[in-house]
Amino acid sequence: MTADAADAHNFSSVFAHLDIDSLRLAIYSATATDVERALQNPAGRLDALLALLSPAATPYIEQMAQASVRLTRKRFGANIGMYLPLYLSNLCANECDYCGFSMVNKIKRKTLNEAEIDREITLISAMGYDSVLLVAGEHETKVGMEYFRRVLPRVKAAFSYLAMEVQPLSELDYCELVSLGLDAVMVYQETYQRHTYAAHHARGKKTDFVWRLDTPDRLARAGVDKIGLGVLLGLDDWRLDALIMGHHLSYLERRYWRTRYSISLPRLRPCTGGVPPKMEISDLGLVQLICAFRLFNEALDISLSTRERPDFRDNLFALGITQTSAGSATSPGGYSEPDTHLDQFEISDERSAAEIATLLKARGLNPVWKDWESQW
Ligand code: SF4
Repeated sequence: MTADAADAHNFSSVFAHLDIDSLRLAIYSATATDVERALQNPAGRLDALLALLSPAATPYIEQMAQASVRLTRKRFGANIGMYLPLYLSNLCANECDYCGFSMVNKIKRKTLNEAEIDREITLISAMGYDSVLLVAGEHETKVGMEYFRRVLPRVKAAFSYLAMEVQPLSELDYCELVSLGLDAVMVYQETYQRHTYAAHHARGKKTDFVWRLDTPDRLARAGVDKIGLGVLLGLDDWRLDALIMGHHLSYLERRYWRTRYSISLPRLRPCTGGVPPKMEISDLGLVQLICAFRLFNEALDISLSTRERPDFRDNLFALGITQTSAGSATSPGGYSEPDTHLDQFEISDERSAAEIATLLKARGLNPVWKDWESQW
């Protein structure tokens, strides 16, 4: 079987039967009546998610926001989980035209050794974090399983919750990483629209759309506690990409009900890697998206990164967000040496973890530094 063949036990086989053109048409022909019906009973319903993501829902965003706040507080209380990325390497064997780590970019490459990782760990711990997200470019040989085997136990000894955002791996590899303390994996499809995906991913393993699409299945089967989905908003029609991500989430939750799920909603900025968004998403659009997903799924973790502006982030925190980072560095060794200019992308919110914690408390929210600890 080729890597691109749809496996009947994976999401790709469901995806193969999705009529993308019909979904696009349905989003843009949804009416106010559809939105009002969706608002009455949105939980777990893909037809409701479609209506809430549609342009017809724009006049209802205030109403959606109020419901989103209510549902988030009911499910998560006032808690906002705090995590920090720890960039291990900016080596990458892929060409993605929206990313600073793309193999074609002439930047200095660096992979942290054990001593450098220890220095980063000390600084991250000193900020108060107990939950960390290991990030690396996708480089199978130099930043692959051999490296992860050495790094994970080291990091897990210092933090109780350990997430990763690296290249998609096999189910067996994920099983091994779980035994070393891995709790969560973020694997963003970037876009679910194949032509656009092919246009932005020119070389490397990431060109394999289906291998990436089926990664959450492998993660769930390997027993990873939490799986993060995401699309890069603006690469293609964000309403459609978000809706297909909803289909993906719905499939996963039905099939792997023990797993927890999160979504991230990063926006493609006009300046990132020089690629202009095909369809820019406004601030209001992002609010609509967050609220639509909260109404669709009240148990979903929704993550907010430091890509967004401080004033806008301050308003989003209460809306439906359940996890955030603060004081992030996006380069390997970025906490020990902040001015290395090796960053993946520029962050917009440069406030420290302590400043964000103070702000959250002032707004009646509760920054939580420790997610639950898995038994491993
Ligand atoms: S998005 Fe990921 S895979 Fe693509 S170039 Fe950047 S680090 Fe590499």
